[in-house]
Parts: sequence; C-alpha cells; structure tokens
Amino acid sequence: MPMENAKQSAAESLRKTRTFGKVRCHNPSCMGRIQPEPGARRVKCPTCGMEYRLYWVNPTLPRIRGPVWDVNKEIAAKTFAEKEAAGRIAGKKKGGK
Ligand SMILES: [Zn+2]
Repeated sequence: MPMENAKQSAAESLRKTRTFGKVRCHNPSCMGRIQPEPGARRVKCPTCGMEYRLYWVNPTLPRIRGPVWDVNKEIAAKTFAEKEAAGRIAGKKKGGK
C-alpha cells in the first residue's frame, strides 16, 4: 500500500527530529523512550520505573551511563528519613546531632 508507506516514512522523519534529547530504556523487556530533564543526572523510565544515571555528551545529548541498582533502597531510606524527620519536628524541637 503506497499510502501506508508514505505515512510511515513521514512518521519516521518526524521521529528523527523528535528523538532529540531522548534515550532508550536499557531494560530489554521495555526499550521505552525516555526524555530526561535537561542536565538531569538521573532519569526514571516512565514505562518500567527503572532509573538510570545520565551522562551528557553535550547540553542536549544525554547518554545512559548505567542503571541505578540501589534506587529502591535509596527511595526507601529517603522515605524513612523523611518520616523520621517529620516525626522528630512534630515530636520535639530540632536540636543538634
Ligand atoms: Zn523502561
């Protein structure tokens, strides 16, 4: 179908300009496109939730350096710390260490 082909190539050329500043998820079962915030050091895949460390080739060209394996641990620790801090502030006045 010639119509289909024309449509596809148009979409393809459009996609070429649109991939600007995007990276592809390294999760083999995901491969989703991720668009990080400019200058972001990490990015989270909106599709599978994997988080990656970023390296910027130039201000508009991100690359994935590697996955953040301890991200879940970190998120858990952060949530815990926030809860702790919130409890502490509510419970007693903040003091030194
Ligand atoms: Zn993903």
